[in-house]
Amino acid sequence: MSSAAPSAEPRNKTRESLKHHGVRLTRQRQILLDLIDNSGEHLDAERLFQLAKLKDPKLNRVTVYRTLKMLKESGLVDELDLMHQAGDQHFYETRLKQEHAHIICLRCGRVEEFFGEPLQKLRRQVESHFGFQIMLARTEIGGYCAHCQALRAQEMREVAEQPALPPVRRKPL
Ligand SMILES: [Zn+2]
Ligand SMILES: [Zn+2]
Repeated sequence: MSSAAPSAEPRNKTRESLKHHGVRLTRQRQILLDLIDNSGEHLDAERLFQLAKLKDPKLNRVTVYRTLKMLKESGLVDELDLMHQAGDQHFYETRLKQEHAHIICLRCGRVEEFFGEPLQKLRRQVESHFGFQIMLARTEIGGYCAHCQALRAQEMREVAEQPALPPVRRKPL
């Protein structure tokens, strides 16, 4: 069951949205949008550049970075820093996805997505409580994944078991 074809609908939505924003869908924009829309991951600019280059070897880094900025400003993609687990890199994801929180492991950098009613509830509460019109919401949660918790526990045990100082051996006189 690997060939779940991506539905045509999001793409049409993207096109409409582009038209709505008065953005012309050039080839490089289409390439980047497709990569971002169809990727299940959060790709950074450099990775996107590498992937885009496979589709169009003439693309250069400057164009890709400029296009990403434009897509972000047109509200078509979201830019995330994911708690800067990977340094200064920013990551891009489609705005067509339902709102979700990012759960980031501070040790291995693994990113999980939490979709759920609590987020919509929070949004509604903020809107009604502050009379606020939310345009953008980002929820990031940092911590340790189950795998890293086990590794950390192991590391702590190892540290605890180590003798504080190596025994000093003197040569018998
Ligand atoms: Zn982890
Ligand atoms: Zn995400």
